[in-house]
Amino acid sequence: MKSKNAHKDHFDCAEIEELAQKYIDGRLTDHEDKLFKEHLEYCVPCDKKLKFELQLKEFVQLKSKEEVPTEKLKRKLNKLFEELN
Ligand SMILES: [Zn+2]
Repeated sequence: MKSKNAHKDHFDCAEIEELAQKYIDGRLTDHEDKLFKEHLEYCVPCDKKLKFELQLKEFVQLKSKEEVPTEKLKRKLNKLFEELN
């Protein structure tokens, strides 16, 4: 796995999916981060997916603080799912 993407000049969608969690956690290298963002600029499905993941993370964090009612969360998540499809 060491420097697997070091020589790459682009990511495909499968790679974006693989790297999404790392991106969210801020663990991508500068090079990966750049390619990741470039991909999102022209690939709408990946962009949407990532936004969904980020929202999900936000929701989970909010929920863990018990600040957002579950029903409201469910509605928002359903809406996001609809947008994805
Ligand atoms: Zn893509």
